[in-house]
Amino acid sequence: MARVLLELRDIKKSYENGSAKKVEVLHGINLKICQGEFVAIVGPSGSGKSTLMNILGCLDTPTEGSYIINSQSTSNMEPDELASLRRDFFGFVFQRYHLLTHLTASENVQVPAVYSNLEKNLRIERAHSMLERLGLKHKMNSKPNHLSGGQQQRVSIARALMNGGQIILADEPTGALDSKNGLEVMEILKELNSKGHTIILITHDAKVAAAARRVITIKDGMIESEFINDNGTSLNDFVRNYDDISFSENWVNSMFAFFDRFKESYKNAIRAMVSKRLRTLLTMLGIIIGIMSVVSVVAFARGASDKVIANISSMGSNTIMVLPGKYSGDVKASKVKTLTVKDILALKGQPFIDSVSPTVTCSGYVQRGNLEANTTVYGISSDYFSVYSKKAREGRLFSFDESAMNPQIVVIDANTRLALFPNEDAVGKHIMVRGRPLTVVGVLSGRGDISSSMRIYVPYSTLMTRLIKRDYLSSIIIRLKENFSPAVAEDSITNLLKARHGRQDFYLRTTDTVLRSITRTNTVFTLLILAIAFISLLVGGIGVMNIMLVSVTERTREIGIRMAIGARQSDIMTQFLIEAVTICVAGGIAGVTLSVIAGLTISHIFPSLPVSFSLASLIVALLTSSAIGMIFGYMPARAASKLNPIDALARE
Ligand code: ADP
Ligand code: MG
Repeated sequence: MARVLLELRDIKKSYENGSAKKVEVLHGINLKICQGEFVAIVGPSGSGKSTLMNILGCLDTPTEGSYIINSQSTSNMEPDELASLRRDFFGFVFQRYHLLTHLTASENVQVPAVYSNLEKNLRIERAHSMLERLGLKHKMNSKPNHLSGGQQQRVSIARALMNGGQIILADEPTGALDSKNGLEVMEILKELNSKGHTIILITHDAKVAAAARRVITIKDGMIESEFINDNGTSLNDFVRNYDDISFSENWVNSMFAFFDRFKESYKNAIRAMVSKRLRTLLTMLGIIIGIMSVVSVVAFARGASDKVIANISSMGSNTIMVLPGKYSGDVKASKVKTLTVKDILALKGQPFIDSVSPTVTCSGYVQRGNLEANTTVYGISSDYFSVYSKKAREGRLFSFDESAMNPQIVVIDANTRLALFPNEDAVGKHIMVRGRPLTVVGVLSGRGDISSSMRIYVPYSTLMTRLIKRDYLSSIIIRLKENFSPAVAEDSITNLLKARHGRQDFYLRTTDTVLRSITRTNTVFTLLILAIAFISLLVGGIGVMNIMLVSVTERTREIGIRMAIGARQSDIMTQFLIEAVTICVAGGIAGVTLSVIAGLTISHIFPSLPVSFSLASLIVALLTSSAIGMIFGYMPARAASKLNPIDALARE
């Protein structure tokens, strides 16, 4: 007795037609199909043949009745179990071929094997030998639209055989072909049957059905008759001997196969994106702008705070500045005239103070012959040089005693030297500062650059009596002795000055207090940026989601074909997720690149706007963009994976 492969028991199928009315298309079909049979199902158009075949091939589910494959009922099978049957057990040949138009013949044939984890080399080898056997050796790399109908149908037969194709389900395989090609296809089916494949052929044409040994006629959703055609082919109970392929199922192979499927999905995603270039670019634009604005703002903010921190760090950690006013930004600070040279002398006597210098500044128009420069004049004591670790490159610096004695001397920086003494020695020469002659005694070290700001340093007494008339200081700068607690020193300084002034009309600035206030503003700023980033990326993400939904709709038929030949729901899902992530990451990379280019260009043109890109922020930007792809691609990808294969296939 022949082994029963497929058994339909009282299968009924109805469609919801329009609003409420159910239309029953199959009215209780009972059918057994044995291994090795060649069965033809004939009937007029609209009799329910395709509906029956879709149920046989697990593309569709019956409304009532049970379908048993290899003594296993299909009624409780999960979508992925059904996909596995379609992938490894059935092979479909459709009237309209249903090839994937953007893949070559060889790639089309390989798709089922990609889903069944066949190793790449074996897969290509097998696809090629299959195509060669069907006379398509010279067409391996042609796309379907470069193939004739007969050739396309042969490609689809090769695809049906790719994973074994124990049962070939052919729905009007000759329906779209001329008679010559039709005959060829029938010859191929007969040959396959002779090699042990079970063939179920569906046709409205009795002549085509005559190829089969067992012919079943169907009319209005019921089996009308059945007869044996003695001239037909059949190899009942043929021992299956067609070339078996073995799928190795250990986890190493599954891993490789997963990456391989991933790569295929990635290739598909790129192909889909390239084929719709403008649309992809516009979609990306949202992500590009979002990432670019965030990365740029972060870089400029970092640049600005780096600059401030660099300035402070040059001050050293054991340095304290005394400034007029009650706090930083006090508007009454300019009216405070109580910081004086006497305070300096009092501080100088404190045991914990290493150096102390007043600072009085004014602008200084400087002339030397017919050369001139605009500088800032610093009135200081010699301690200022030790606080800021400044050294003389030429000549000397002035001493503490000199600072108080009102001498007509000046120390200039390298920039000023370059501007006033381009080709000669500076030390010993006179320059006019605010109309007063001063002798240059020293030049500070550093490389000269006339486009940078220029500074000259005179004893505070000189500035306060000769250059401007003023008896109070702009600030006091103090360096503490090593190993002395800054907190204790701050208290002592505050108490001392408070006692001298009678009230607190000054405040102290230390590296710590400045850093703390920068960190505070930075945190606020960062939160603000994050809010903007969130909004702009949300907008970009919605754009991506929108385009992915369109893409799913456009490619519903492709999804249907992939499902028919065995794609799991997860395969479809990954394919669309990868596409969304690829768009977003490409947008992210473009955004990061553009913002680096723009940032560097801007800070090159405007040196006062430094930028600082941190590797971490660039990586975060890219991770964020792929997360956007995941989040906003999820819904469309899920929608694609939940499509019913037969509905998807029917969509043109
Ligand atoms: P055949 O393949 O024999 O030409 P089908 O199985 O395609 O016939 O269709 C049988 C009947 O079921 C037809 O009357 C058709 O209109 C109807 N039908 C098929 N698919 C659907 C569907 N998705 N929704 C509603 N009616 C359908
Ligand atoms: Mg049909």
